[in-house]
Order: sequence, then structure tokens, then C-alpha cells
Amino acid sequence: MSAPPTVLVVGGAGYIGSHMVWLLGQRGVNVVTLDDLSSGHADAVTSGRLERGDMADRALLDRIFSSQPVDAVMHFASFIQVGESVEQPARYYRNNVLRTLDLLDAMRAHGVKHFIFSSTAAVFGEPAYTPIDERHPQQPINPYGRTKWMVEQVLADYDRAYGLRSVCLRYFNAAGAHPDGLLGERHDPETHLIPLVLQAASGRRAGIKVFGQDYDTPDGTCIRDYIHVMDLAEAHWLALQRLLQGGASGVFNLGNGGGYSVQQVIDVARAHTGREIALEYAPRRPGDPARLVADATLARQELGWVPQYPDLATLVAHAWRWEQRCASASAPRT
Ligand code: UDP
Repeated sequence: MSAPPTVLVVGGAGYIGSHMVWLLGQRGVNVVTLDDLSSGHADAVTSGRLERGDMADRALLDRIFSSQPVDAVMHFASFIQVGESVEQPARYYRNNVLRTLDLLDAMRAHGVKHFIFSSTAAVFGEPAYTPIDERHPQQPINPYGRTKWMVEQVLADYDRAYGLRSVCLRYFNAAGAHPDGLLGERHDPETHLIPLVLQAASGRRAGIKVFGQDYDTPDGTCIRDYIHVMDLAEAHWLALQRLLQGGASGVFNLGNGGGYSVQQVIDVARAHTGREIALEYAPRRPGDPARLVADATLARQELGWVPQYPDLATLVAHAWRWEQRCASASAPRT
């Protein structure tokens, strides 16, 4: 039997990265997590060893890559807030682009040839059509989306020039939590709809704002393609198999291809939790397209990816289990 592969998970203490580390552990992979813990949580790393540090720290990377052969790197360590990227583009270009180049340089120096990159639907900008397939024009409308699009282009060039094989996975709206309540979303500040709605349901937040009710959608609120975080982790697993088996680089959109409106998310959350969720109807949030829905046919065809949790009610149920755990942990002790 061949030795299990070793995978370096950069940003493995964060939301999606921690689910990935768990899945890799389940599948017998030797996992090394590199995370500076600026937004991640050490207790979310449930498998392998955690190296606390910067992905651009060359001495640290040299030590990690020299200590054992690394078969692949997965990169989850990006800044992800669109609004912040507009206000502080320098931070975004430095972290999401320059530090990624440093990581890639270290990989090249140590002969690590496989890279899986967390990209985003934000590379497309305002949709010209939906559902969005991989050929849709890439015209990001904010610095966050541009940083991801730049790295995608860098990776195409690195493949040609250096033989670095990569898979870029463009997530639509990552959501949900580990089905057993082990892991979940812990952003600070939280900006994503589903955790905000559930924090309102648990009483950790007074209510939520609904951004825009006048979109050209059936109920006037925005439609997004929510994809379960475990389904995203599974797509990374399949991408890893492809690369380790000598497959070509690729770029894939990841979503369920359906989509739910903000109002539908709130309705499902009310029904599942049995709690009241106070709403404030607010103006549109700048830069929000009416509808963002993936065409993930290519991921199904080439990776064999079939989402296990496409149903919004299941996704909300898993996220609610996690929220209840967070709420009880943060409740004042009497
Ligand atoms: N949204 C909202 N209230 C909030 C946060 C989000 O109405 O407090 C809406 C947002 O306008 C978008 C959808 O929920 O239409 C999903 O937003 P999120 O920030 O979760 O993800 P994004 O689509 O921006 O990646």
C-alpha cells in the first residue's frame, strides 16, 4: 500500500479550511495546517498538526516543505469581505495576491506541483446571463473579485511555464456547517446572510437587515446559490484526486444551480428554528446583483462532484446546530 499523501492546508483554521482539514483527516491524509490565526481558530483544526504563521514567511515554509514531502497545497487564506476590499484595496492585493505569490514561489523552490485554490463567483462581476458557467466573461467589479481573478491568471501562466498543476474552485455562496455540529462559521464580524439570520433566531443579535426588496426576482429580494461547506470540501477532495493522478489543471464553478431568495432563507430559518427573526427592510447593498446562480455541470462531468446537501432546509438545520452551540458557549454563566 502506498503512503498516504501529505497536504498543506493554508488557512485550515478558518471556516471552509477547517471543514477541509476534518475531511482530509477522515480520508487518511496526513494534514499540515498553516494559519496565522488572524481570523481562524486553533480549536477548529481537528486533524494533523497546526503551524501558526504567515503563508509568506519563507523560512517557515522552507521548514514545512523540508520536514516532509508535500504532495499538494490547498489555499483558503484570503480576505473575503467585498466592502472592506473597496475601502482597503492595498490590504487585499497584498494578502490575496502578493502573499499567494510568495506561497507559490516556495512551492516551486521545493518542487511541490499541485495547488488547489479557493476562488469565487465574484470573478464574474455583474452576470451577463444565469446560470453562470465557466465561460461567462470574467469582469470582477470589486478588488476582492479582482484579487481572485488575478491569481487564477497567474496559475494558468505557472502551469504553462513551471508545470504547476492547479484547480481553481469558484464558490458561489458557501454556507452550512458540519452535520454533527463539530465545526461551523465563526467570522468576526459576521457579514453572511445565513449565520446572521440564525444569530437573530438564537437571540445573539437583535435582528437583521434585508438589503433591497425591489430586485427583479419573484419576491423582490436577491437570489443566491447557497452551497454546503461539506460539499465544497468534497469538491476539493475530488480536485486533489485529479491532480494526484496526473490530471490537468482546471477551473470549476461550484453551486447547486438553483438558488434561494433572501426572503426564502428567512422563511426556512423561521420554520426550522420556530423562532421569531426581526427584520429591517433596508436599501440595496451596493454591488449586489439580483441573481447569482452557478452552472456546475463541468464539475459534475470532470470531477464527478455531486452535492450531498443541495436542500436549503438541511443546510439551515446544520448551521442552526452550530449556532446553538455558539450561543450556549457565549451565554453569560449564572
Ligand atoms: N444580505 C442581507 N442582509 C444581510 C446580509 C446579506 O439581506 O445582513 C443579502 C445580501 O444582500 C445578498 C444575500 O443576502 O443578497 C447574500 O449575502 P452574503 O453577504 O451572505 O453573500 P454574498 O452574496 O455577498 O457573497
